[in-house]
Amino acid sequence: MDLSDSPDDVAYRDSAAAWLADNAPAFEEPDTGRLSVFGFRSSVESVTHVEQSLAWQAHKHAEGWAGIGVSKEYGGSGGSIPHKLLFTEEEGRYRLPLDAQSVTMGMVVPTLAQWGTSEQRERHLLPLLSGRQLSCQLFSEPDAGSDLAAIRTTARKTADGWLINGQKIWTSYAQYASFGYLLARSEDAPRHHGLTAFLIDLKQPGVTVRPLKQATGAHTFNEVFFDDAVVSDDAVLGRPGQGWEVAMSTLMAERYSLEPDMVGAKPLLDLLRTSDYPADPAIHRQFADVYTIQHILGILKLRLRTAAAEGRAPGPEGSITKLLSTDGQYLAADTALRALGPDGVLANPWTELLTGALGMRIGGGTDEIMKNAIAERVLGLPREPRVQQQ
Ligand SMILES: Cc1cc2nc3c(=O)[nH]c(=O)nc-3n(C[C@H](O)[C@H](O)[C@H](O)COP(=O)(O)OP(=O)(O)OC[C@H]3O[C@@H](n4cnc5c(N)ncnc54)[C@H](O)[C@@H]3O)c2cc1C
Repeated sequence: MDLSDSPDDVAYRDSAAAWLADNAPAFEEPDTGRLSVFGFRSSVESVTHVEQSLAWQAHKHAEGWAGIGVSKEYGGSGGSIPHKLLFTEEEGRYRLPLDAQSVTMGMVVPTLAQWGTSEQRERHLLPLLSGRQLSCQLFSEPDAGSDLAAIRTTARKTADGWLINGQKIWTSYAQYASFGYLLARSEDAPRHHGLTAFLIDLKQPGVTVRPLKQATGAHTFNEVFFDDAVVSDDAVLGRPGQGWEVAMSTLMAERYSLEPDMVGAKPLLDLLRTSDYPADPAIHRQFADVYTIQHILGILKLRLRTAAAEGRAPGPEGSITKLLSTDGQYLAADTALRALGPDGVLANPWTELLTGALGMRIGGGTDEIMKNAIAERVLGLPREPRVQQQ
C-alpha cells in the first residue's frame, strides 16, 4: 500500500506547515507536559485557555486558514475536507489551545454550513470562524446518551415560535458558548421521528447553565436547563421534524475531528528512555502495543482522508479510530505508571491521561457503541436487539 501523500497533498501540507511555523509558536500554551484534554485547569487557566483559543482562531481567520472546507462566501477558507485534515495534522504539532474549539469547529460549524439558511450562516458562521464566539452541542440528556432517539426535551409550537422545556447534560464548553445547537422533540412521535434541531441563544431568559466538575477537578462540561425558553421560527436548523437527519450529519462530521495523534507514544518513549524503571518485560511489551496502535491510527487517518478525497462518506474507520485511540491512551498511561512505580501515584500527566481516557471511552460514542457499529457494519454480525419505546 502506498502511504505517501499525493503531489497535491504534499504541496498543501508544505504551505500549511510553512505558515504554521511562522505563526503558531506565538499562540502556543506553556509546556506543562499535559497529555489529556481532560487535565486539570483552574477556572482562571480555563478562561485564559478559551481566550487564547479564540485569539488563535481569529488569527487563522485573518490569514485565510480558518474554516477549511467551508465556502469563502460564509467566512471559511474554501478548500476541501482532505485539506482540512492535512491542516489539522500539521496544526497538531504545536501546543495550541485547540480543545476549546473542538465542538464548535468539529460539529457545529459543519452542521451549520450544511443545513443553515443563508441568514443563519451569515449570522452564526462568521462569528464562530473568526474567533468571536463559541458554540456547544445540546444533544445528551440524563436518559438519552447512546440512545439519542430517546430525548425528551420538548419544543412546543406557538403562534410566533417555539417554547423549549427540558434538560441537557454533559454539554462541553456551554459556559463559554454564545449559542447552542439543540435537538428537541417537536412532535408527539416515536423515537427518531418528530425531532427538530434549533439554534438557541444561551444567554436568554429560561436557559440555565450549571457546571459539572470532573474527577480531575476540571470543569469542561455542564448541565443546561430550559424552562419555557422561547426561540423564533428562524432558529430552526433544517425543517421542523428533520432533526434526526441533521443530527446524523453532525455525528458524521465528528468522525473527521478525531485526533489519532493523541495516544502519547512519543512522550511514553521519552519517559522510558530517561527514567530508571524496574526491569519488567511487560512494560516493553505494552510500549510495543502503544507504538503499534499509534501506527495503525496513522494508517486509518490516511484511509479517512482518501475516502474524503474520493467523495465517499467516512466509513467504519471512524469507529475503529475512536476505539483504538482510547485503548492506546489508556495503555500508554498504564505503561507509564508501571514504569514510574510508586511515583506514579502522585498527580502527573500520566494519571491525568488515565482518568481522561475513561472520559474518552464515553464521549463521542461509548466503546460498546463503537464495538456494536464495527460488529454490525464491518463484520456483518446480527444487529443488537433494539428496544422500541414510545
Ligand atoms: C468528555 C465528554 C464530552 C461530552 N460532550 C458532550 C457534548 O458536548 N454534548 C452532548 O450532547 N453530549 C456530550 N457528551 C455526552 C456523551 O455523548 C454521552 O455521555 C454518551 O453518548 C453516552 O451516553 P450516556 O452517558 O447517557 O451513557 P448511556 O448511553 O446510558 O450508557 C451507559 C452504559 O451502557 C452502555 N450501552 C448503552 N447502550 C448500549 C448498547 N446498545 N449496547 C451495549 N452497551 C450499551 C454504554 O456503552 C455505557 O457503558 C460528552 C461526554 C463526555 C464523556
